[in-house]
Amino acid sequence: MQNKCPVCSIAQNPIHIYRQPFIAPGWERVHYRDIVCCGWCGFVYVQRKRLSLESQVDYVRENKYSNQYVASLPRPSIAEYHRASFSFLHAYLSKFSNHRTMRVLDVGCSSGQFLSLFKRRGYGLVHGVDPSPTSKVLAKKWWDILVYTATIEQFAAREKYDVIVLYSVLEHLQSLKSIVKKLASMLVLNGMLFLSVPDTVRFGKTLIEPFMEISLEHINFFTEQSLSNLLGLYGFTHVASFRHASDTYGTMVLDTLWQNTGQKKRVLMCKDGILALQKYVGKSYRTLYSIERVIQQHTRRHQQYVVWGTGSLTARLLATTSLLRAPIPFFVDNNPAFHGKTLLGKPVHKPDRLSSCSMPVLIGSFLFERDIRRVLQEEYRYTTDNILSLRD
Ligand SMILES: [Zn+2]
Repeated sequence: MQNKCPVCSIAQNPIHIYRQPFIAPGWERVHYRDIVCCGWCGFVYVQRKRLSLESQVDYVRENKYSNQYVASLPRPSIAEYHRASFSFLHAYLSKFSNHRTMRVLDVGCSSGQFLSLFKRRGYGLVHGVDPSPTSKVLAKKWWDILVYTATIEQFAAREKYDVIVLYSVLEHLQSLKSIVKKLASMLVLNGMLFLSVPDTVRFGKTLIEPFMEISLEHINFFTEQSLSNLLGLYGFTHVASFRHASDTYGTMVLDTLWQNTGQKKRVLMCKDGILALQKYVGKSYRTLYSIERVIQQHTRRHQQYVVWGTGSLTARLLATTSLLRAPIPFFVDNNPAFHGKTLLGKPVHKPDRLSSCSMPVLIGSFLFERDIRRVLQEEYRYTTDNILSLRD
C-alpha cells in the first residue's frame, strides 16, 4: 500500500516489519498495527492508513493519562525517571542562561508532574497544554500550575517560550512534520526543545513481556538519527542525548535536547530502527512461545478459569495464542473504563466479582503480577494453587 513517510514525505511501499493484532474490550473486531520502515530514510512507524477509528486512542474522551484511575495520586515510580530526565535537562539549560528567566511549556503535560520539577526549581514561567480537561484541574490542585486544555494542533500560544518539553508524547502523534514546524514557531530563536521517547534501539533489553513496546498508542519508533532527520527539517540542531531506564515498565528511555538554531539539515538514511525492531520481534516471539505452552497447560488442567487483566497484553494474547479458545467465563479488571464491556462476548467485571467465585484466576499481566497476586491472596482468600501465572 503506497503511503507517504511521516518524516521524509516520500510516497512509497514501505518495508513491512511486523503486524500486531489486538482484541480489546468493547470492540467489534480484531484490529491491527502494521509496523513498517521507510525505504528512503529508514524511519520506523505504524502505517497511518490502516489505523481504524475504533482502535485509535481518544486522548480527550478517555482522559487517558489523567483520569482518576491512572492519576489518583502523583505516581512515585514515574517521579523517579522524571527526576533523572530533569537533572539532565536542567544541567544543560542552566549552562545556556539563567533558568529563573526561562519560560517553559510542557506539551501533553498530563497532570503536570514533570512540570512541577521546573516550578520547584524556580523557572521563570511554567505552563502546560493537554487535551484532557482533567489535567487542567489536577495540575492546578496539585502544583498550582496553569494548563491549557487543547491538543498541540489546536493550541494558540500567546507568547514564545524558551523551552518546550514533550515527555512521552511524540511517539503518539500522527502528523509529525506539522507539529515540529509548529513547535519551532512557538520557540524563541535558539530556544530549546526537549523530547523524551522510548529508545527503539534498546527495545527488549530487559524483556518483561513480549511485544510490550507495540501498543495501540505508540505509532512512531524513534532513534536518535530519525529524530535528527525530522527535527533537522525545521532548523533544530542536536545538543545532547541521555539514555536511561524507566523502572515502571522496563522501557528504555531516550531523552534528547535540541536547539532552535534555524539551520535546516538534509535527511540521512538510517538503518538502526529497522534492525532494532526486527531483533525485538524475534526476541518477543521466543518468549511468546513459552507463554503459549503455559496457557495450553492451564487449559488442559482446569475446566474453567477467570482472567484478571484486559489491557494490551491480554489484547495481544487473545489475538495470537490459544488463550482465544481457553474456557474463560468472564474477565476482571481494575480499570473502570472496561467495566460493563464485553470481550469476545464475555463480560468484564470489577475484581470484587471474585469474592463469590471459586474458579482459578490467571493473572494477565507481568507488570502488576505481584500486586494482583497479593490482592487475590489477601482480599479474596485465594490459595497458590488457584492463582495461575503466564510465567513458565
Ligand atoms: Zn522516510
